[in-house]
Amino acid sequence: MSVLVYLESENNKFKKSSYEALSYGKGLADKMGVQVCGVVINCSDIESLKAYGPDKILKIESQDLSAFSSKKYAHAIANIMKSENAHIVILSSTPDSKYLGAHLSGVTDSSFVSNVVELPESISPFTIKRTCFTNKAFSLTEIISDTKIISIASNSFGVIENSNDSLAEEEIDIKSIDSNQRILNIEKESGSVTIADAEIVVSAGRGLKGPENWEMIETLAETLGAATACSKPVSDMGWRPHSEHVGQTGKPVSSNLYIAIGISGAIQHLAGINSSKVKVVINNDPEAPFFKAADYGVIGDAFEVIPSLIEKLKAR
Ligand SMILES: Cc1cc2nc3c(=O)[nH]c(=O)nc-3n(C[C@H](O)[C@H](O)[C@H](O)COP(=O)(O)OP(=O)(O)OC[C@H]3O[C@@H](n4cnc5c(N)ncnc54)[C@H](O)[C@@H]3O)c2cc1C
Repeated sequence: MSVLVYLESENNKFKKSSYEALSYGKGLADKMGVQVCGVVINCSDIESLKAYGPDKILKIESQDLSAFSSKKYAHAIANIMKSENAHIVILSSTPDSKYLGAHLSGVTDSSFVSNVVELPESISPFTIKRTCFTNKAFSLTEIISDTKIISIASNSFGVIENSNDSLAEEEIDIKSIDSNQRILNIEKESGSVTIADAEIVVSAGRGLKGPENWEMIETLAETLGAATACSKPVSDMGWRPHSEHVGQTGKPVSSNLYIAIGISGAIQHLAGINSSKVKVVINNDPEAPFFKAADYGVIGDAFEVIPSLIEKLKAR
């Protein structure tokens, strides 16, 4: 018996969320007194996994799985669940892993529980804490099915080092699987850091007055190694691409630091950023609702505050 962790990768590098999922899997396996095995599809960067304590890595090299397909990946992982006698699979919270979780739960008749933030309170019954209502509340969910798929909310558990130098590796052969899904085209987000992977997000709203003023936002983001984001009206007006829109109807952000500039803090915007850890608000209106949700606030004109913040950061 073992805990399986699917380790998502891109361009032969594991995502940060995969290291977090592995850290969680290790914690859970230790609590249950079983092994933790990583499932790797078409990625050779195995060395980087050692720091997070897997007992074994199950490697699949397959041209058939070169592009993500929830059906094909679910069948591949379902086969490994059988051969490893694994009753628990850990996933991260990326869009691909969410599709995969739903598909895998159907194929294996398992429960799929998403947005998990902590190790289970108890193993028997298996009771687990997760966020709900756009991260405003927690719920304790008891999973009663024999097999369980658990996806971890980004940045909730953290990446925890737990080195294991005696890591075993095993190649797994997967038969090609027919799929009615076909990838026609993949459009990558522009920019060096994506909102989903970002530790820091610099986000701006209608207070910036127009698209011509985004240069200072991009400079601040570049200085901090951050991703850029925006409020809904900003993307609706075409000042910024829709891929940057965060909130209830946009992308969720679970960064460690969220800097909101000239954003009022409407409930629909806050819904998307509630799970970010530290929120800094820069707004010239002391009554802006965002200040109530902020950890740090700067009351001031963005056109004065941002250039001087960039200057101070660059000086460091
Ligand atoms: C069904 C529905 C879903 C929605 N989903 C989303 C969503 O997913 N995401 C989202 O963002 N919104 C969403 N909205 C819209 C939301 O209700 C707000 O209208 C929107 O978030 C406001 O955007 P904003 O804060 O950029 O603009 P505004 O509300 O116009 O706020 C601009 C802010 O900038 C400040 N400001 C002005 N000048 C300066 C300056 N020089 N320096 C510093 N600060 C300045 C102002 O004080 C103000 O607080 C949704 C609305 C509905 C009805």
